[in-house]
Amino acid sequence: MVFKKTIDVQAAVAIAASEAIAAKTQGTFGVGGLMLDQHGTVLKSLHNNVVRHGLVFDPTAHGERQLIDWYYAERARGRVLPPPEDITIVTTLDPCCMCSGAVLAGGFNVVAAAPDRIAGINYDQHARFGALSSGLREQAQRSFSYPAVLGSSLYARAGAGAAPRSFFIGKTIAEATQALCALAFEATAREVVALFGADCPRAQLRDPATLAPDHRIVRALKQLYPDALAYRCAPHAPDAGLAPFLRQAMARDEAAEDEPEQAVALLDAFGNLLLCMSGKRAQSAIRTAFMEITRAYAQLRYKLMDGATADEQEAVRRYLGHPREGTFVFACGPDHGAASFMDLGAWASTMEGPLPAHNRRQFQYVTPRITAAELDAMCAAMPPLYRDVIQVQPVQVNDRALVVALSGPP
Ligand SMILES: [Zn+2]
Repeated sequence: MVFKKTIDVQAAVAIAASEAIAAKTQGTFGVGGLMLDQHGTVLKSLHNNVVRHGLVFDPTAHGERQLIDWYYAERARGRVLPPPEDITIVTTLDPCCMCSGAVLAGGFNVVAAAPDRIAGINYDQHARFGALSSGLREQAQRSFSYPAVLGSSLYARAGAGAAPRSFFIGKTIAEATQALCALAFEATAREVVALFGADCPRAQLRDPATLAPDHRIVRALKQLYPDALAYRCAPHAPDAGLAPFLRQAMARDEAAEDEPEQAVALLDAFGNLLLCMSGKRAQSAIRTAFMEITRAYAQLRYKLMDGATADEQEAVRRYLGHPREGTFVFACGPDHGAASFMDLGAWASTMEGPLPAHNRRQFQYVTPRITAAELDAMCAAMPPLYRDVIQVQPVQVNDRALVVALSGPP
């Protein structure tokens, strides 16, 4: 969709709402958004793309995150765009932790319509952002707007947060538009979450290391990551044998200036190494190693399942299990920065729901960047979906030899 210019918050939210309707039509979360420059010119509008053709396509394909990657991709292609502080992202739904981290990492402004009391960064609707660490909290208070909704229904509200940017002449949202934003999401959440239940429990998983080397699943996996299945540990217990693979990916990582080189590995329920990836932050501030690996794995499964027979789909689900049955191993643990907050949110979006009781240590890291107590406090402050439902809690790997192997010079 191409739109020229909008200088009304209401008109902008209405465009986002039409994207949310398109999202519902696609069968994904009914959320839409657009990106405006400092004159109100619409640079891009799009919608949630987590689900396509009834399959999870990309757990990170929320509207805001896609808009931000679009922005950096356009700039990398040589297009002249205003700096992020002059850009406003308008979204039908309060940003989740992943998208808030992405927005803050880039330094964009946000106008949000409907609240999300479970996963939204402003879940308590005070616009104080207690879920964020200090520094990020003040940045959000300056850049996230929740415009007033005039009316007398339950959708009416007083404005909160930062004032919308000055190019907006009209600064309020019409009640019916706000209701549409809320209802488009509510109408889709249940059926999308029901799709998430299609994956196999642990007892039905099969070991991909037992497949013939020319099996289509093994070939697709090795095409994505040639070292797939080259390492194996006890389930959920990475050891020093993983170090060379992490090291190799870290050497390729395009880290931000003030951050260490990062790599993330994905192990399956049997302990097989499936993928190990680095970030591409020279191309986009939000293409961290975790964002890359979780997208790569979801899209590998999607490509193998889309258009396949029911039996073929079942084989993919059995041999390439859902990540919640495996282990993500981060070379470096989270810190207090926006990119780490995005990663924590994206990890939770990847898990989709509570972890199985036998795999509470799904999120492991080798080298800590903050203390375990600080990390626990950060997770305990997150919105209810993260804190209570999915229970985000990264833990350090148990194997000291792996910690030592990554601590010295290469
Ligand atoms: Zn999001």
